[in-house]
Amino acid sequence: MEKRELLYDGKAKQIFATDDPKYVIMNYKDDASAYYGVKKSSIKDKGMMNCHISEIIFNYLQKCGIKTHLVKCIDDNNMLCRRVKAIPLEFIVRNLIAGSLARRLDIQEGTMPQSPIYEICLKSDLLRDPMINRFHVKALGYATDETLDAILKMLKQVNEALQKLFRQVDIDVVDFKLEFGFDNDGELILIDEISPDTARFWDSNSKEILDSDRFRRDLGQVEEAYHEVLDRLQKLTSNLD
Ligand code: UDP
Repeated sequence: MEKRELLYDGKAKQIFATDDPKYVIMNYKDDASAYYGVKKSSIKDKGMMNCHISEIIFNYLQKCGIKTHLVKCIDDNNMLCRRVKAIPLEFIVRNLIAGSLARRLDIQEGTMPQSPIYEICLKSDLLRDPMINRFHVKALGYATDETLDAILKMLKQVNEALQKLFRQVDIDVVDFKLEFGFDNDGELILIDEISPDTARFWDSNSKEILDSDRFRRDLGQVEEAYHEVLDRLQKLTSNLD
């Protein structure tokens, strides 16, 4: 498949058209950013690590029956994906309280809620991804009730599958962000990435932070943390193969 024009240049990824309108190529960059672009840097090999971490996770989710945009990795930084019409929403799933929710409700990080918490945000850097509810989603036409119900079902499935996968590598899945779109056949599929850029991963034993909070909070050893997540997943999946 041939790489064609740049369709989208984001903070951590670029999307290129291909010679087949049904597919795009997603290029994972080393650029790191936080606080909606206020803090910027570059993390060595981040693109490669996120590309392979997402590849392992999406492959696992597909084995669990969850449809994703992943076709295959073309090289260390480039992923061939199904082209979609993206839904302009971000869905956050929380198994432990952390980050913005800890701040907003003044709850200690690491507290376990009685059940997973789901949040919907409008995808807009300009507005800093404001949280909205399903009434906004329906009334403002971001998605139908039917689509939202299907997404909520997928959020639960993805969360269960992710926890099952990461339990085997001694990592707690604290929270994560998902995006969805409709493919060429009108099917709802999981898109974007699942990586330490878009999820919080804590070592189950030491509770060491293994995600982009190391960058956001200047904790150091950012590259090493991403490597640790990739190494553990690669060891596990090579044993399973
Ligand atoms: N997240 C993301 N993109 C966003 C906002 C959040 O990938 O634009 C992820 C983030 O990495 C974390 C989870 O969603 O794993 C919950 O993020 P939170 O709302 O706590 O935001 P924070 O202000 O801490 O980034």
